[in-house]
Amino acid sequence: MTGIMAGKRGLIMGVANNHSIAWGIAKALAGAGAELAFTYQGEALGKRVKPLAAEAGSDILLPCDVEDLASVDAVIDALKERWGKLDFVVHAIGFSDKNELKGLYADTSRDNFSRTMVISCFSFTEIAKRAAALMADGGAMLTLTYGGSVRVMPNYNVMGVAKAALEASVRYLAADYGQNGIRVNAISAGPIRTLAGAGISDARAMLSWQQKNSPMRRTVTIEDVGSSALYLLSDLSRGVTGEIHYVDSGYNITSMPALDTLRS
Ligand code: NAD
Repeated sequence: MTGIMAGKRGLIMGVANNHSIAWGIAKALAGAGAELAFTYQGEALGKRVKPLAAEAGSDILLPCDVEDLASVDAVIDALKERWGKLDFVVHAIGFSDKNELKGLYADTSRDNFSRTMVISCFSFTEIAKRAAALMADGGAMLTLTYGGSVRVMPNYNVMGVAKAALEASVRYLAADYGQNGIRVNAISAGPIRTLAGAGISDARAMLSWQQKNSPMRRTVTIEDVGSSALYLLSDLSRGVTGEIHYVDSGYNITSMPALDTLRS
């Protein structure tokens, strides 16, 4: 297959099913000629990811739970053995106790704060460090964030705090690895109906608000995120690093509800 990703090999972490943002990204990359490896969290999700990996032309499917660092190491070891090097990595992983994705942020428990930070933020740093060791010829890394990191979104709570730390990590990792030709960026996606998205209380209302009030008057799709990811992971963005790139129909630039919404 020819395309702008021909000859490039990368790891996709975070496909749970065909609604996952990571799947939208994988489709765009595979369509542009990239060779992919996938991870899955637990056997139940593995059954869903297996046919998707096959659809993307991949036979590399590895278990990984980022709470278990040994499983992250095993993924990197397997890729080292199979490919010897890595050109890109996609981290589309997030988790928080859904009982704390509602109500007051102030009620966040210490245990869930730590767990949310480790899974949704620090795992990217741990993966980046290991992936960078396989990127002797340079590479690109991408994670997924949400605008609840910089503005208060109802119910997003501790995930907003974790995403703020994740975005700061993107900048620090970009500085760490820039001289090695490794670029580190994030996409800040607008709300999308996914498994993780459904864990946030009133997710439906957030989708409807975005649809009515974003400049483009629509929500975004996993395919919208996929094509922006293709840019950030390909040589088209070779001069870009440390960037938080919004794929949100422009919602982040607004300061008040759309007038047509207010008048209706
Ligand atoms: P999703 O449920 O399809 O994907 C979340 C993934 O995280 C799943 O594959 C799950 O297995 C994985 N995961 C959770 N805990 C893990 C662990 N301990 N070890 C390994 N994997 C683990 O949902 P999604 O919406 O595609 O989420 C992907 C990323 O996009 C997340 O970081 C999410 O915060 C972010 N995001 C989502 C939205 C949205 O509205 N859906 C918007 C902006 C950003």
